[in-house]
Amino acid sequence: MTTEALVKPSLDEHLSGAAKAFLAEGRFGHLIDGETCFSDETFAVYDPATGAEFARCAAGTAKDVDRAARAARAAFDDGRWRNLDPLEKERRLRRLSQLISQNRDLLMDIDVIDGGLVRAYSEFIVNFGQDAVDYYSGWPTKLHGSAPACPPDVVVQEVREPVGVVGIITPWNGPSAAPAAIVPALACGNSVVLKPAEQTPLAAIIIGRLCLEAGIPPGVVNVVQGKGEVVGQALVEHPLVDAIGFTGSGETGRRIQAAAAPRLKRVSMELGGKSPQLVFDDADLDSAATAVANAVWGHSGQVCTAGTRVLVQRGIHDELVAEMVARSRSIRLGSGFAKDTQMGPLVSEEQLNRVRRYVDIGRQEGAEVVLGGGRHGQAGFFHEPTIFTGVNNGMTIAREEIFGPVMTVIPFDTEAEAVAIANDSDFGLAAGVWTRDLSRAHRLSQDLRAGTVWVNTYQRVYPSIPYGGMKQSGYGRNLGAASLEHLTQIKTVWLKIR
Ligand code: NAD
Repeated sequence: MTTEALVKPSLDEHLSGAAKAFLAEGRFGHLIDGETCFSDETFAVYDPATGAEFARCAAGTAKDVDRAARAARAAFDDGRWRNLDPLEKERRLRRLSQLISQNRDLLMDIDVIDGGLVRAYSEFIVNFGQDAVDYYSGWPTKLHGSAPACPPDVVVQEVREPVGVVGIITPWNGPSAAPAAIVPALACGNSVVLKPAEQTPLAAIIIGRLCLEAGIPPGVVNVVQGKGEVVGQALVEHPLVDAIGFTGSGETGRRIQAAAAPRLKRVSMELGGKSPQLVFDDADLDSAATAVANAVWGHSGQVCTAGTRVLVQRGIHDELVAEMVARSRSIRLGSGFAKDTQMGPLVSEEQLNRVRRYVDIGRQEGAEVVLGGGRHGQAGFFHEPTIFTGVNNGMTIAREEIFGPVMTVIPFDTEAEAVAIANDSDFGLAAGVWTRDLSRAHRLSQDLRAGTVWVNTYQRVYPSIPYGGMKQSGYGRNLGAASLEHLTQIKTVWLKIR
C-alpha cells in the first residue's frame, strides 16, 4: 500500500517535509541489531482525529522478541557500548540530543497524527524526551562505586555495574518521550529492547534510527512492534532480558509482575492514578480555576497525573465550579494540526467508548454533569470536557482511572477531611494543593500519600527530579538519580593484601 493512498490530502498539507518523507515508507518494521525487519503480519495505524488508517506496522511475534533479545544480549556481552569510554558515551548521547532537535518537526507531526496530541502538547513531549537525554548524557562519567570500610587484610571495591538487557514497555500517551524511557538505561551501559504501545508505534522507530545515527552501536537499542499480550509478554518472559521498565495501566502491571516472577526479574512500574487536587478557600481562585481545570484537560485527560479528583472547600465550591465551567466551555476541540485547537481526540475508539461508559456510570450513580458529558462530533474519537459535581469519593468515577477528560468535583469542610478523602484511593501517583497558607502546604505535603505533591502548581516535571507512584500507582522511580538504582547493580570485589 502506498502512502499516497493512506495519507489524506487534507492531512498532507499540514505535514512537514520530513514527516511526509517518513510516512511515504507506508509500512514500518522493527529495528533489530541495527536493521529494519518485518513480520508476516501487519497491523493498522490510525489517525485518532479522523479514524482513518494512515500506515501499517509489523505485528511482532515471540520470534522477533527472541531475535531482539539475542541482539541486545550480544551487544551487551561484547561490550560495544558498555565498555565504551564514558566520555565517548556522553558525546554520542549529546549527539542524540542534537538529532532530536534537528528532527523536532518530524517527531511532533508524528505524535499529532499517531497519538492525537495537540501541537503544544507534542512540543512539550518532544522537549521532555530531549531534556532527559541532555540530563542523562552527563551521567556516564559520574556513575561510580565506592570503597567500603573493610578488614585490614583486604581491599574491597564496591562496583556499580549495568544490569544487562532492559526491556522497556511504554504506553501511547507521549510517544516521542521514548528517549526519556531508554536513555537512563543507556547511560548506565545497558542494552535495550523497546516495545512501544501498538496505538502509537511510529515515534519509537524514529528514535531507534536516531540512536544509530548518533553512533550508539547496532544491537544496543532494538525496537519490536506489536501487541502487548504477544510482544510485551514475550519480552517480560525472555530469559535473556534482565530487567523490565514498564509504564502503563495497573491491570497490565499486575500481569507483568506475575510473568516476571518465575525468573525473579527486576521490574519497575509507572502506573496509573486518580490524583486529587485540594483547593482551599484561601487559594488564589483566579489562577487555581484555570490551572485546576487544565490539569484535567491536558492531552484530553490521557495523562497519568491528570488531577481528576478535585476536592473543593465547601465555601468556594460553587464559585470555583462556575469559573471552571465558564473557562472550559469554549475549549476548541479538533485535530492537533489546526493552530487554534486546544483539545485533541482520545487515542482510539476503544478509549472513547471507555470514557463514555464511565460518564454513563457517573450519571447512573447520581452525579450531575455540569459541563459536556458526550462525544464531540462523529468523525474521530473526540469527547467533550466533562465536569461532574455532586460526587462522593465512593462513586466509581471517583475511584477508577478513566483516562479521559472527566473531572469529578467533591466538596469538603475541613483540612483533615480533605486529607482523608485524598488518601482514600487505591492510587498514589500525585496530588495538588492550592492554598496560600504556608504551614498547611507543608503539613499536606507530609500527609498526602503520593509520589509527587505539587503546591500551587501542577504537572511540572524536570529530568533531575524523580517521578513515580505509591500504592497501586507503582514502584521504582523514573528520572533523576533515583532511576539509576533499577538500572544498575552492585558488585563487591575482595582482594587479599596481607
Ligand atoms: P496498557 O497497560 O494497556 O499498555 C501499556 C503497554 O503495555 C503497551 O505497550 C502495551 O502493548 C503493553 N502491554 C499490554 N499487555 C501486556 C502484557 N500482557 N505484557 C506486557 N506488555 C503488555 O496502558 P495504556 O492503555 O497504553 O496506557 C494508559 C495507562 O498508562 C494508564 O493507566 C496511565 O495512567 C498509565 N501511564 C502511567 C504513566 C506514569 O508515568 N505513571 C505514564 C503514562 C501512562
